[in-house]
Amino acid sequence: MKSIYRYLRPKEWALAGVVIAFVIIQTWFALELPERMFIITKLVQTPDSPINEVWKEGMYMIVCAIGSFLATVAARYAASRVAAVFSQRLRSMQFSKVSLFSMNEINKFSIASLITRSTNDVTQVQVAFTAALQAVTMAPILAAGAFLKIWGMGFEWTLATSISLVCIVALFILTLVLVMPKFKMMQSLTDNINRVAREGITGLSVIRAYNAEDYQKIKFERANEELTGTTLYTTRAMAALMPAIALIMNGLLIAIYWIGAIVISSAGSDEVLTLFSNMVVLSSYAAQIVMAIMTAMSFFIMIPRAQVAAKRINDVINTEPSIKGGTVISGNPNLKGTVEFRNVCFRYPGATDYALRDVNFTAKQGETIAFIGSTGSGKSTLINLVPRLCDVTEGQILIDGVDVREYSLEALYDKIGYVPQRSVLFSGTVTSNVAFGGNSSHESTDNDVKNAVRTAQGQDFVEKMDGRYESEISRSGINLSGGQKQRLSIARAVYKRPEIYIFDDSFSAIDYKTDRALRTALKKEARGVTSMIVAQRIGTIMDADRIVVLDKGRIVGIGNHRGLLRTCSVYKEIAMSQFNEGELET
Ligand code: ADP
Ligand code: MG
Repeated sequence: MKSIYRYLRPKEWALAGVVIAFVIIQTWFALELPERMFIITKLVQTPDSPINEVWKEGMYMIVCAIGSFLATVAARYAASRVAAVFSQRLRSMQFSKVSLFSMNEINKFSIASLITRSTNDVTQVQVAFTAALQAVTMAPILAAGAFLKIWGMGFEWTLATSISLVCIVALFILTLVLVMPKFKMMQSLTDNINRVAREGITGLSVIRAYNAEDYQKIKFERANEELTGTTLYTTRAMAALMPAIALIMNGLLIAIYWIGAIVISSAGSDEVLTLFSNMVVLSSYAAQIVMAIMTAMSFFIMIPRAQVAAKRINDVINTEPSIKGGTVISGNPNLKGTVEFRNVCFRYPGATDYALRDVNFTAKQGETIAFIGSTGSGKSTLINLVPRLCDVTEGQILIDGVDVREYSLEALYDKIGYVPQRSVLFSGTVTSNVAFGGNSSHESTDNDVKNAVRTAQGQDFVEKMDGRYESEISRSGINLSGGQKQRLSIARAVYKRPEIYIFDDSFSAIDYKTDRALRTALKKEARGVTSMIVAQRIGTIMDADRIVVLDKGRIVGIGNHRGLLRTCSVYKEIAMSQFNEGELET
């Protein structure tokens, strides 16, 4: 697994270098301070030392403090910038990748997890990256610098500082071992919260109608408690770490003075002054080391969680979409508009049974081919194979004589006007929804939107809306009725002027009269376009050129309405349930 940081550009690496440079400057200034204190202490202790000297050192200390402050601000600014740009890129990369995913990949990750991965996980990485650039790089530099400065000042003091450093690091590692597995859990628990919350919100009307609030609430509470419990565990562990380190630090200070007291009391009078200054400086350096380590650790603790997050982001970015386009741009011109299924078998990934078996049929240009069958007989599955929402398990689907898998995805989608079983509308206007995406093979005009809406029998209701074609459509079209949504989805397909229409039960929410008018208009406007229609109502499909009857994923009859009534019992049964015998004969 390659690091996520390979997505940083050279410019950002350079900026990260700038951050580290500023951190070094900041540290250098910070380390200067005790050095000056050492000199001032000495000056103050020495009789007759000029006050000017003390002032000079004092001014120098102020300069160092300001310098350190400015360097800190600069480091922080640059670090936030790199991290923000980086996380923006991670979000974009995930978004582009996910838009190439087929249902396989989306189901593998789950929608909730994909959302967490491109929001919360990116934030984790961003925060930790900023911290890593400053605090975590500063600690070793500062600690090493301070350590070097106190090195020669006395063996006992150096030893005491070393021992406390070892204690702190050991304590830290111990805590890390304890909390690391919990950090891993935290991200998946966040996924879980996301999933339950999503389900609760999208299903709100059903939850209310069935008085299932308590049930949903318990579900949410459980997920919430799990996350809270885990978070509490880790924060408690971290909270305990800080005072423990503070204890060690104070212990160290006491040790330094204690050692100092012993050393000074046994020293000769000429040495006392130097030893005392040393002690003051030393305690100040020791405090700096410990402080540096403490800050670094409080940031360091973000890193394990960020690592988990980074891996999850990487997983998304590195997943190759299972549906990949080929290179063919156009099919055989003599076969334009034909759709052929050749021995198609299909099994959903992970399912044991085939959803489709040995499906064979051909639809020629301009023909209407309809699919009927009970729910679960495989109609949607069959029709979804054409725009490659999934790929066939065995066999072939050919459009214009070329296997759908050989077309470039763009060329394939250009040929198809797909209207899914559940209408999908986007926030925007009627026009933006109808003129959605568009077709690279021809130019479109504003009039096309009107024509498409008229063909889809949506003119009446669209023109009654306040803004007509510029009326607002809310997210998922919640301000429209089912039938209105269906008609706009159909208008979208009509607007595109494809070679092939695919209607997956797209007339179900439209009343019979409109349904008929729509089909008549389609026939007139879209002459030469092949239509594949899935429908529940016999009325919708009885004038189709060919009707394919599906039962448990197999074709049990192909023919026209009249023929099937005579030869196909499944078809006859469906027909009988919707009409009486007399009506069927007409
Ligand atoms: P229809 O549209 O005719 O009502 P579908 O094509 O939606 O039927 O479903 C056909 C069969 O495939 C059903 O038995 C269903 O359980 C199964 N199926 C549908 N979608 C999936 C899926 N995403 N994963 C696994 N099985 C599925
Ligand atoms: Mg269906």
